[in-house]
Amino acid sequence: MSKQLAFLVDSKKCIGCYSCAMACKNQYHQEPGVKWRDLKPLPEDVYPHRDRAFYSLSCNHCASPVCVSVCPVNAHTKREKDGIVVHDAEKCIYCKACINSCSYGAAKDNKTQERAEKCSFCVEKIDEGLLPACVLGCPTKALSMIDLDKADSGNIEQYPKGFEKHTKLNPSTRFVFAKTPKLVTSDTDA
Ligand code: SF4
Ligand code: SF4
Repeated sequence: MSKQLAFLVDSKKCIGCYSCAMACKNQYHQEPGVKWRDLKPLPEDVYPHRDRAFYSLSCNHCASPVCVSVCPVNAHTKREKDGIVVHDAEKCIYCKACINSCSYGAAKDNKTQERAEKCSFCVEKIDEGLLPACVLGCPTKALSMIDLDKADSGNIEQYPKGFEKHTKLNPSTRFVFAKTPKLVTSDTDA
């Protein structure tokens, strides 16, 4: 397998502060209503606790990205050297094929500028040896960048509970599932 950079989302560490999403939004001056990264609170059937738990989600830089295959003008490309799926908004003709095809909803509709947009892993930062804005913005290190080739697969999952399973896309994002909070017993409640 060639190199694949990926996001590692550690739900055990995430405090749901939205700093990652805000760092992303600020970095790229995203229009109101357009969010390349967002938080997904885990639903109660997945995480049945009074505490909340979250996944921080954006483009998954898939191994078989449908956005690349459906784009008629090659505005989406997958980089050979690190597997990042880059979107070039300048090439985009706003046909919405990627927006309508990505099962993860990662390709966003910028109605104001009439173009598709998505996370490109802060590729210009990566090329300078820097980390993506979301990773830098996370105060708890719940979000990190990993190389899938070298990642310890022991405690990380590709399809944890609450994350949709789209095997044809083969998303690169990896997860650590949320911790179970300590139960409050009736004795301690009293
Ligand atoms: S998550 Fe969607 S937009 Fe991102 S690489 Fe995969 S198919 Fe493309
Ligand atoms: S910045 Fe970190 S802790 Fe805050 S919501 Fe994002 S992933 Fe969670």
